[in-house]
Amino acid sequence: MKPIRLLDNRLANQIAAGEVVERPASVVKELLENSIDAGAKRLTVEVENGGVKLIRIRDDGYGIPKDELALALSRHATSKISELEDLEGVATLGFRGEALASISSVSRLTLTSNVEEQESGWQARVEGRDMEAQVMPAPHPVGTTIEVKDLFFNTPARRKFLRTEKTEFSHLEEVVKRLALSRFDVGFTLRHNQRSIHQLRPASTQAEKDRRVAALCGPKFIENAVIIDVEVSGLKLYGWVGLPTFSRSSADLQYFFVNGRVIRDKLVGHAVRQAYRDVLYGGRHPTFVLYLELDPALVDVNVHPTKHEVRFRDGRTVHNFLFSTLNRALGEVRPEDQLLPTT
Ligand code: ADP
Ligand code: MG
Repeated sequence: MKPIRLLDNRLANQIAAGEVVERPASVVKELLENSIDAGAKRLTVEVENGGVKLIRIRDDGYGIPKDELALALSRHATSKISELEDLEGVATLGFRGEALASISSVSRLTLTSNVEEQESGWQARVEGRDMEAQVMPAPHPVGTTIEVKDLFFNTPARRKFLRTEKTEFSHLEEVVKRLALSRFDVGFTLRHNQRSIHQLRPASTQAEKDRRVAALCGPKFIENAVIIDVEVSGLKLYGWVGLPTFSRSSADLQYFFVNGRVIRDKLVGHAVRQAYRDVLYGGRHPTFVLYLELDPALVDVNVHPTKHEVRFRDGRTVHNFLFSTLNRALGEVRPEDQLLPTT
């Protein structure tokens, strides 16, 4: 046996990274969530080679002051919670203080930021085993830019699991898409290899929201969708459901958000399927972008960074509400559109 030793800092962070940083898409998710937590209203994501070579994210959030830059990059450093009780009502997307430390341990990362109170911006980068950050002046408007280069350059075993550029980019785009669907009030720009992929301005009116959904899910979806906006005793359902004639052969246009977070849930899936049961041919999948809002006390959200699970306190009521709302909405379009299958 070898003697017991403490892991050096980078190694400890790399092990932690194994949990949250699976591929470029997971980096983008963590960084965009940080930007949103920082109150950003405009987000720019630039990537090269599916995000493996470069991920650069700029935001106009409140920024990080110079003397907190190094701290932001160390593990268990967070501004979001300070005691266990804070977890109960955590309103931010992150709180573990692990993402930046993890990402910087498996890439070449620079963090540039400026806050209202400072004359100019500062930049931190980490190098070497102990991950001591070097901080130097760098011009930057209020907000933050993070550059992640050469993901997994020092962890060949992880790099081996990366797929083609196209596949990695499609995962990454999916992350941006979900966030853009969850925050209409925030503007998103996505560029891949200098090419503009999405340019989404903040949306507040129904027409602007339609436009964003059309840009993300295709104009055909919006043309073939019914708008839902129903509230019954504290349960609110809003969004778009595709007409049964606009069904798909795979379940790839299904987004369901609970209190702003995208989720996948058996109960929700079941309620939706039931509502479509009589109007959809077997083997076809409905399309929807739906937002359920309810008292946060009535739902547990598993906030593990890679899971999207919820547990409703009163699942039956939620199920009935979803089923009856969707069933009615689909029923109203049914007769005139002759959507009932004849076989
Ligand atoms: P967490 O989000 O769990 O707190 P992170 O490692 O993702 O942990 O970030 C560490 C800290 O760095 C955050 O708590 C926040 O204070 C700060 N931070 C990270 N990204 C940004 C950003 N884009 N704007 C402002 N502050 C940020
Ligand atoms: Mg975070």
